[in-house]
Amino acid sequence: MSESNRLKKQLEAAELEINYLKRRISQMEKRLLRQEKLDDMNRHQTKWAMQQLEQARKLAEQASQAKTDFLATMSHEIRTPLNIVLGMGELLANTGLDQNQSQYLQSLRFSGEHLLKLINDILEFSRIESGSVEVLQAPFDIKELLTGVEAMGTHLALEKGVKFSLDYDQSAEINRLGDYRKIKQVLINLVGNAVKYTDSGLVRLSAESSGADDPEEISFIISDTGIGIPDDKQALIFERFTQIEQGDVQEKGGVGLGLAISKRLVVAMGGQIQIDSEVGRGSVFTVQLSLPFADRAPLPSADSLEVGSTGPILSPLKLLVVDDIYLNFEVIKNYLKDLPVNVSYAENGRQAQKLFLDDTYDVILMDLRMPVMGGVEAVTHIRKLEQRLGVEPTPIIAMTAHAFIEQEKTYLNSGFDEVLIKPFSRQDLLITLKRHSNQAPAGPAQTGDSSEPQAADKETMLTPLIPQVLDSIAADIKTIQKALHDNDHQTLEKTSHALKGLAGFYGFNRLANLLELLEESTSKREHRTARALVVAIGSHVEELRRGEGSPVNDVAN
Ligand code: ADP
Repeated sequence: MSESNRLKKQLEAAELEINYLKRRISQMEKRLLRQEKLDDMNRHQTKWAMQQLEQARKLAEQASQAKTDFLATMSHEIRTPLNIVLGMGELLANTGLDQNQSQYLQSLRFSGEHLLKLINDILEFSRIESGSVEVLQAPFDIKELLTGVEAMGTHLALEKGVKFSLDYDQSAEINRLGDYRKIKQVLINLVGNAVKYTDSGLVRLSAESSGADDPEEISFIISDTGIGIPDDKQALIFERFTQIEQGDVQEKGGVGLGLAISKRLVVAMGGQIQIDSEVGRGSVFTVQLSLPFADRAPLPSADSLEVGSTGPILSPLKLLVVDDIYLNFEVIKNYLKDLPVNVSYAENGRQAQKLFLDDTYDVILMDLRMPVMGGVEAVTHIRKLEQRLGVEPTPIIAMTAHAFIEQEKTYLNSGFDEVLIKPFSRQDLLITLKRHSNQAPAGPAQTGDSSEPQAADKETMLTPLIPQVLDSIAADIKTIQKALHDNDHQTLEKTSHALKGLAGFYGFNRLANLLELLEESTSKREHRTARALVVAIGSHVEELRRGEGSPVNDVAN
């Protein structure tokens, strides 16, 4: 073969090789393109799937929020008419019914009250679910918390013939920071359940330091010798509306929300709740909470102060009471009669501010809703003045009706030192004054719930004022009737609110309840209900003026 032929052959072979390689490259390019397309599609699909997932999550969250809102709104809406049903039932009970009618009414009221408890639980649960639980961090005394729960547990256990015991180690001796009310609510619920599901034996509450690495951790243990809970049901009982069907458990009342609420409260406080139980032997619930050591002492509380009705228990004190209703001030003045307390009066926040500049007070008691200047505005001004003048802050206590207690934290943040719920008893007032006037606790511990006005207080302190108060109430009822006739909602709402506080203070509880309902139905423009209530209130006040219902009787009811 000639040289040129050989080269030509080589060239042809090289061309073939090149073509082959070109085809390969083109094939690979195509494959790559396909792969890229696939990748792109995959990326797209993944993105799409992620978007779908996110959308589904949002929808689920929205649905859950809508459900929570629905529950909250419904339970609130149901509560108002239900309260009216119960209020009217209470009035009906005093209208000379025969035996049968009384019995029917009794069942009606019993079921109504059960329903009210259910509604209140749902409302609380949905409030917690919507994330609006505020956890306070204030110093408190664990021993006092435990003895408070013990008092209730012993009482419940005694009724059932079950024993109750309390014990705690030295960790309970140290003051802690935490939300006293919420912890107490959880313990009361667990102790209540323990007694409810135990027919004989012992219910025991104990508290001990439990964290090996965390010295601040405390375990509250509630054990019982009751019916117990099957293993497969133990996780379920913390779900809402869960009740275990066991023997006669269904007959024990309750709606299956207590543990759901307790668990959520414990979690909101950063703790955990556990259960260990055996059917037929009993249950042990353990609540673990990390409660930081308090760097300041808690304010002396009801249980650590002696507030007997005889003898001065307060050192001399200058007090300013700010309330637009003069008769409320009269109550406070009468509560403090015979004690070394100098009481001044201002009818609104503005006047209080002036008095504050002219004089020095040891404590100020301030209503929240007042014309001209309300309590929150006044306290803000006073706090600013104190800063400008460089003086020690004066303890200022807010006075408010129970319906507004949820805003407690807001009031505390705006400068108040404490919130006192109206109507309060003489004992509540003395305790509060003593707590805030730097007076050391004295005397032996007292137990008992001081949240209710005491009949004895009313009888001895306020009786002389009753005719005057009833005249004033009757005049206000006329204003209410006129406002109703003129469709003047503002006056109607304002007068029923103010009158409610006054009625409560003097122990006219039934009247106060009816006025609260009137206030609510007016604000919701429920005219027919409002009209019915005004008639009922009018005749109830007439009854009171005829002496057919005394505040003392009212309190006892
Ligand atoms: P309820 O209001 O029905 O008591 P809870 O949420 O407090 O609702 O409790 C849910 C269920 O858990 C109860 O219905 C009961 O079956 C069960 N349970 C709770 N505590 C105990 C206990 N200490 N012993 C036995 N069963 C209990």
